[in-house]
This record gives sequence, C-alpha cells and structure tokens, in this order.
Amino acid sequence: MNNIDNIIEYIEGSNDYIVTSHISPDGDNMGSTLSMYYFLNKLNKNVYYVLDDNSPQNLKFLVEGIKILKSDEVDIKDYSIIALDCGDKKRICVSEEILDNAKSIICIDHHASNDHYGDINYIDIDASSTCELVYNVLKRYSDSKSSNIIDEEIATCLYTGLATDTGNFAYSNTHPSSFEMAKNLLILGAKRDNIIQNVFQSNPYNYYKLLGEALNTLEIVDNKIASIEVTKEMLKRNVINFNDVDGITSYTRDIEGVEVGILLKEKKENEVKVSLRSKNYVDVSAIAKEFGGGGHIRAAGCTVYDSVPNVKKKVLQEVLKSI
Ligand code: 5GP
Ligand code: MN
Repeated sequence: MNNIDNIIEYIEGSNDYIVTSHISPDGDNMGSTLSMYYFLNKLNKNVYYVLDDNSPQNLKFLVEGIKILKSDEVDIKDYSIIALDCGDKKRICVSEEILDNAKSIICIDHHASNDHYGDINYIDIDASSTCELVYNVLKRYSDSKSSNIIDEEIATCLYTGLATDTGNFAYSNTHPSSFEMAKNLLILGAKRDNIIQNVFQSNPYNYYKLLGEALNTLEIVDNKIASIEVTKEMLKRNVINFNDVDGITSYTRDIEGVEVGILLKEKKENEVKVSLRSKNYVDVSAIAKEFGGGGHIRAAGCTVYDSVPNVKKKVLQEVLKSI
C-alpha cells in the first residue's frame, strides 16, 4: 500500500481528529488544513481545527463560519492529529500536551526539510503545495468510491494553497500537474475571482505606508543579496499585524541580478523571523537549517534570537558563503 492509501485506510478506521498546521499561517497552511477539515466533516468524523496563531487578514474569507480553536479550548480524547504543511514537529502550532497525547500523527507535507516525524507520512518535496497532496488524497478517495468528494468549498481551499505557494503559478515548483489540478478545481467550482481578490487585491492602505518604510531599508550586498527590515515599531506605527506582511519578502528576490532575498521581521525584542528566497541556485533551506529553521530550496525561514542588526549580520554571513 502506498502512503495515500494508508492515510485513507487510517481515516476510515478512526473517528476523532485534530487538524492543524505550522505557526505563521499562509495560504497553503490554511487551505490544506481546511480542506482536510471539510473532508473529515463530510465523512461524519469528529474534527477540530486547532491553531495557536492568528489568521492573516487576507485569508479570513476562507474561514468565515469556521471556528479555529486554540489548544486550551479543545476537549477531545483518543484523537489523531493530521499535521498539514508542517515540515518540523516543533512547528506544529498546538500545545505540547495535545501533541503528546495524540494516539497518532499523520503528516502530509512538501517541505524539503521534513524529517518524517509522523506515524504515517505522505511527503513529496517536489509537490507545488500541501494542497496538491490533499488533492491527491481526495481524488484517490473519490475514485475508490466512484463519487466525487471535492465540492466548491474544498476546491476553493485547495486552489488557494496552490495559487499562493506557487506565486500564482510563477515559481519553479509549478509543474504541469499544478495546472492540471487548477483546471480540475475550477471545473469543480473553485471560486477563483474571490480567492484572487481576497488574497492578492485587498491590502489595506496602511500596508502601503508600511511597505514604503520597509523599502527604505532595502540594502543590496554584492549585487546578489537583497534585504529588507520590518521592525516592531514600523508594524505598530502603521497598525499592521506581524502575520500580515509576508508578501514583502518577494520584493527582495524580484530585483534584477539578485539571487537571495531576505526579509527580517522583528517579532519582539531580540526575536527576528527571517524569510529567505532564492532565484536560481542557492539552497535557502540549507541556510535556514543553520539557524534551526527549514523550508524549501527556493523559500525557507527561521527565527533568530538577537537584535535586527545582529541577525542581519549573521544571516548575511551565511548567505555570502553560498553565493
Ligand atoms: P516564510 O518565509 O514565508 O515564512 O516561509 C517560507 C517557507 O519556509 C515556508 O514553507 C515555511 O513553512 C518555511 N519556514 C519558515 N520558517 C520556518 C522555520 O522556522 N522552520 C521551518 N522548519 N520552516 C520554516
Ligand atoms: Mn506549503
């Protein structure tokens, strides 16, 4: 049996689930978790969506009417966890107690740095997104029942993760199978216009004020590395939440000649979230790993506990070794 069949067999044989993902939610994180949540609901399973972090503003449309619980709000026994889009057990965004008491962890993921921490793992590091893997599970399930389980809601969640993780079908993780999946999801009723407008075309005015400030910090090193800083004061001044500025990262890589882009985002004093992107040849997942993080070859991240200027110095040092 392959991993998809193992997962389907497990799900059919067990009743209680927590679905969750990583801290700092993004489109693939929420799209894959929510599509799994809807799938389990349709199978009449008892399922909770748990995440101890806040949804970004531009993804709130996906979860209208859904209650995302915090760990201390859940009361469930004999449950299994399905962890989606989470490459590292430490990043699963539920309490340690919930993690430790689960009877099994099923891991569905596409991060290059994933160490197969689940009891059942379906990991494909070549997949565009975790949503593509959930899509494969749901398609296999549909085929086995000769009945389609992917409704408009599920198709919309899956399309969101596919579109966001591929940069709207632009990044190198976009394969022919991604277009095939997109085509099928559109046929199945994915609300593309709604997704595009909410995710990419609904930035508040304040976001651009913040972006202006952030772009003023842009620095280019050796013509090949670009970095931008967002401090907690900038976020506060412009009334923008920490989880609502990830889009700024792409400005770094989009510069002519730049191979590695870095966004330094200050969460608290001496705690900086670092986002790394590369264009052609640098493995940023390996760089992030040096700092205890991980991710994909072209998009990775880590958290470094020091001041913004010090973190910048340390990260630049590592990046320069790989240029
Ligand atoms: P982002 O820079 O958008 O936060 O993350 C880029 C990619 O790296 C995402 O796939 C994300 O899940 C992963 N990532 C970001 N931060 C970390 C981290 O601290 N640890 C690990 N393992 N992966 C990370
Ligand atoms: Mn992903």
